[in-house]
Order: sequence, then structure tokens, then C-alpha cells
Amino acid sequence: MNKEQVSPGRPRPDIAALSAYVPGRSAAEVRRRYGVDEVVKLASNENPFGPSPHAIAAATTALAASNRYPDGASTALRERLAAVYRLAPANVIVGNGSDELILLLALAYLQPGETAVMAAPPYAIHRSAVAIAGGAVAGVALKDYVHDLDAMADAVGEDTKLVFVANPHNPTGTHLGRDVLRRFAARIPTHVLLVVDEAYHDYVDDAVRHTARDLLGDYPNVVTLRTFSKAHGLAGLRAGYALAHDNVVGTLDRIRPPFDLNIAAQAAALAALDDDAHVRHVARENRAGRARLIAIARRHGLTTVPSETNFVLIQVDDSAALTEALMARGVIVRPGGNLGMPGWIRVSVGTNDDLDRFERAMELVGSRKSEVGSNRDEQPIH
Ligand SMILES: *Cc1c(COP(=O)(O)O)cnc(C)c1O
Repeated sequence: MNKEQVSPGRPRPDIAALSAYVPGRSAAEVRRRYGVDEVVKLASNENPFGPSPHAIAAATTALAASNRYPDGASTALRERLAAVYRLAPANVIVGNGSDELILLLALAYLQPGETAVMAAPPYAIHRSAVAIAGGAVAGVALKDYVHDLDAMADAVGEDTKLVFVANPHNPTGTHLGRDVLRRFAARIPTHVLLVVDEAYHDYVDDAVRHTARDLLGDYPNVVTLRTFSKAHGLAGLRAGYALAHDNVVGTLDRIRPPFDLNIAAQAAALAALDDDAHVRHVARENRAGRARLIAIARRHGLTTVPSETNFVLIQVDDSAALTEALMARGVIVRPGGNLGMPGWIRVSVGTNDDLDRFERAMELVGSRKSEVGSNRDEQPIH
């Protein structure tokens, strides 16, 4: 059969060549496929401690006005964020998750063929956004699992318009200090945007935590990205924001879908922003869980990468096979092959009960090595 005859439309060839995003498997899918009753998902860096009850109450109240369009400018949220960061509302833009803002940045700043510099492996959405915009990725290999900032600055060329740094990085969990990031910003020309994605900011230990927001005064080309998806526990509602020069905010506002943040997300984000105690509680629980996760890995003689996030990268013999074996025991982790880290698994911090299950599954898998040996689930993501 001639496929051409039944293929409707003609997508852009560069879009047709892309692969769809490969998400972590859902608990329902694993329950069905393996016939396990209880499934814990440690694959998507979600917050297992839940959202702020105030955020859920605010979202629930907001739902009663669902017949109205949301405030397209997210005015209340924008103004509150501006106050928190001692900026003007014109320096703040909110998005349907920070992933939307990453896409808008790529669409607004890259002409086809122009380049975005990022780590290799990068956060997957940084790469896919650039591809969707028709741009080229200049990937700079990590050095000891950390951004190689000197090499990244060297990679900035005539046609570079964007530089992405995830701090801390996903998929490695590593963190760049204040001074090295400032020196890096000084090396990036003003006509190139330096996008610092701080999705895991609230998980960084107090002693080393800092924000690229503080670079904005000296370096107006720095864009700081944050999300409500991680420590605030609102991944399902989709809300993120950028702190940037007003010209950058104005540019993104021109191409932003006018009602990208729904009323429940706006209300929940606003309430979550004022519940510092909840974020501190989550960060504390996360620190304990992360230590336990690392201890479990060490007990199995496995190497881990130092993490300032809510996940840990663990080096294993065969990541696809181990992922499969853990899944058969009701524990979903992310195989590193999907993330550009073959030979590793990325495990998100869970509750103590979740980690009990991970620990037990690791022991069972360890004692039945012969079962391990299928590669069928390792799919590449480009
Ligand atoms: C999880 C994550 C985000 C969050 O994306 P949202 O669209 O806000 O949910 C952004 N950047 C990185 C590096 C992440 O790991």
C-alpha cells in the first residue's frame, strides 16, 4: 500500500523527523501490564509529599468561575511574584509550566538554523524546544556530570542566540555555585540570552543555594526560569515563570497563547507562593529521602552522582533491564538511556513507604540476577 495516499497534510520536514517525548510510565500502565497491585512512581521527579493544602483550597474555589476565561495576564500572580523577587511586574512572565516558556524562548529568539548552546545530555525540553523552533543544538559534554561552563562559553558563536543552563541540572542533579555562574554570565554577549532553569531551586541545600535572578542587574540578558511543578507540588496544574528584562518579557508576551494559565493554576500558584512552610517541609523531607536513596544504592555497591535535587542518578550494569525488573515489582524508575545517560537509572525521591518498596525491589532484583536481561524498553529520545 502506498502510505503517501493516506497521509493527510505535509508537515514541515524537520518536524516530521522529530520523535515524540517519551514520558515515564504511568502507574496505571504498570499495574495493568505486570499485574502488580501497588505501584510507586519514582520516574518523573514529582513531589511525593503533595501540594500545599492552601493551594488546593484556592484552586477548588477558583473552579466555580470556570465559565469565565482566566485573567490572560495572570495579573495577581505576576504582581505577587514581582514583589517576592523585588522586580517590576514587567520583569515577570508566567507560563503553562516552565516548559511552555522554554518553547516560547526558542520560538522568539531562534531563526531557523541559529544555535542554542546547552549541556550534553541536556534537559530534554531544552533540546526539543530548539528543534521545534528549527534551531540547531550545540551540545557541550558534561565534565564529571557538571556543566562545562568554559567549553560552553567557547561554544558561543556568531549564530548563537540562546544558552541553556539547568541549575541544578536534570538528568544529573549537579549544581553550579554562585561565583562560577556569575563568571560564566560575564562571558556571554548581551545579544545572547542566558537561560538559567532553576526548577529544583528549593531543593538545593541552604549553604549553597543562590539564584540567577541576582545576575539580572548586571547582566540584562539573563533569564531565570522557575516552576511550581517541583517543590510546590503542582506539576498537574501546570504553572511556571520567568524573571527577565522587560524587553524579553514583552517579546514572549507577543507570542504567548493568551489564556495559557487556567484559573485553577493561577489560584493554586498564588496560594502556594505564600506557603513557605510547606516548601520548607517538602525540602526537609526530600533531603532525608535523598540521603536514604543514596544509602540504598551504596549498599548495593552502586555509584551515585551528587545531587541537589529530588532525584539521584545511580550507575548500574544494565539500566534498561534493571528498570524492567524493578517495574515488574511495582517500582517505576527512569532508565538513563532515555535521558542520554545509558548505564544509569534516575530515581526520584519518594516517601518513606515508596523508598521501602524501592529498597525491597532492589534486594529482590539483586538476588535474582538471572531474570535481568531484556532491552526492549530503552527508547531513545531526541
Ligand atoms: C521538571 C523540570 C522543569 C519543570 O517543567 P514544568 O513545565 O514547569 O513542569 C523545568 N526544567 C527542568 C530542568 C526540570 O527538570
